[in-house]
Amino acid sequence: MQSQPIDFHPPSEEAAPYLLPAADVFAGRARRFEHLACDHSLAEWLRFLARLSQAQHDALKAIPEFPLPDAQARELARNHGMPPLNLSERPAVWRDALRQMLAALDDETLPEGARATLTGLQSADDSRLEKLAATLLEGEISADLAGELPFIAAALQVTYTGMALRLDPASLQKLDAPAVCPCCGSPAVASVVRLGAAINNLRYLHCSLCNTEWNVPRATCTTCEDDKEIALQELEGSKGAVRAETCDACKSYLKIVYQDKDPNVDPVADDLATLALDMLVDEAGYERSGPNLLLIGAYSG
Ligand SMILES: [Zn+2]
Ligand SMILES: [Zn+2]
Repeated sequence: MQSQPIDFHPPSEEAAPYLLPAADVFAGRARRFEHLACDHSLAEWLRFLARLSQAQHDALKAIPEFPLPDAQARELARNHGMPPLNLSERPAVWRDALRQMLAALDDETLPEGARATLTGLQSADDSRLEKLAATLLEGEISADLAGELPFIAAALQVTYTGMALRLDPASLQKLDAPAVCPCCGSPAVASVVRLGAAINNLRYLHCSLCNTEWNVPRATCTTCEDDKEIALQELEGSKGAVRAETCDACKSYLKIVYQDKDPNVDPVADDLATLALDMLVDEAGYERSGPNLLLIGAYSG
């Protein structure tokens, strides 16, 4: 009997447990939103999100260098099993990023409602902005803030991404909850099955706030870690680049995007372009385990 050689290529180096955000993460997302807007029933909104993402990119480049939490604070957090970036100690520079983005977005092409929200935020004082940020990150979110919070979220994403990309991945550690970001403690928006040397076909959760990714096993619930009652759902006619991973053990779900189906998938943009999939799994009785901060408030309650 002839034996077949097994086509096995062990990874040449160990897979990275953490992938810190790239400096052009928002520019790539802007292009993805533009692409997804083509022939989409929500084209106008997705094009607006492309502009918002581009404004995030510009703000990230423009904000002056600001200090990370100092080494002592990071060590203390590490010893307590906490992430190095603290959501309740927000660098004040996030408000500058917000104001720059609002100015960049303010023009007559905006729908009237969005423009009124934007004008309201432009005249908001620091204490109101801090209150909105605290509500977004820590509070009960009510539907009447659904217009303002995505702008607040976008500016905080810029600031926390700007901090995360300066951290040393070797200083990070896994936290107790698998779906919580090891940099900032925020929940994951979705996961990505990646292409590329050493990370091929590995799955990473993607932080809803700071765009850090961390490796998690495939076919395992990211909320309760059950690996027996997992199923994948997708929209009819989709090419399988975006699926919802549902768990019957805890009745949660989160989406997965696949780079081998489309190398340009983006966990934030592709998530928002597939809201029909959320409706499908919501109706089947599953609850989403992590938010998309650019739509926060719209689906609460
Ligand atoms: Zn994070
Ligand atoms: Zn589960």
